[in-house]
Amino acid sequence: MNYCSNCSNTLKFCIPPGDDRPRFLCDACGTIHYENPKMVVGCIPEFEDKILLCRRSIEPCFDKWTLPAGYLENGETVSDGAAREAYEEAYANVEILAPYALFNICYVNQVYLMFRALLIDGNFRPGNESNEVRLFTEEEIPWHNIAFTVIKETLKHYLKDRPNGLFPFYIGDILPRKKIENAS
Ligand SMILES: [Zn+2]
Repeated sequence: MNYCSNCSNTLKFCIPPGDDRPRFLCDACGTIHYENPKMVVGCIPEFEDKILLCRRSIEPCFDKWTLPAGYLENGETVSDGAAREAYEEAYANVEILAPYALFNICYVNQVYLMFRALLIDGNFRPGNESNEVRLFTEEEIPWHNIAFTVIKETLKHYLKDRPNGLFPFYIGDILPRKKIENAS
């Protein structure tokens, strides 16, 4: 952040009086531009024991498979956001059932909230951010081609809980991958 969105003056990055960490501060109009984590909402759409995944048509993780998820919009509830993402990415009408997993991803300042969901009518087709959308049985899930660690973790927990029919709310942390893994 370089310029003040309020008055266009150049910003300083410093600890404001009475604060305990550096912020983008505008000396001209006094506005403090706080930056806080972004909320990502998504769901695990199920249809006849199969799970709906989307193959990404955009970076990051182009061509890899993901659950429908995306940034929560202002003025939107978390469950409405999760349902909207399913429609945008897969033209899927889902019934959001219950919150299922929350992941802190502190190193990229994101919080993921994933819901259990039902695909209502079995209809779907690729949305703007997907090249392909399809249903996967547990055995078919492309574990080596899943877009994000948080999605892989969500699926792993879900499939572990599903045989018991109990889905206790889960909170986890996603940590940065080690450099040696990034190199591969
Ligand atoms: Zn300003």
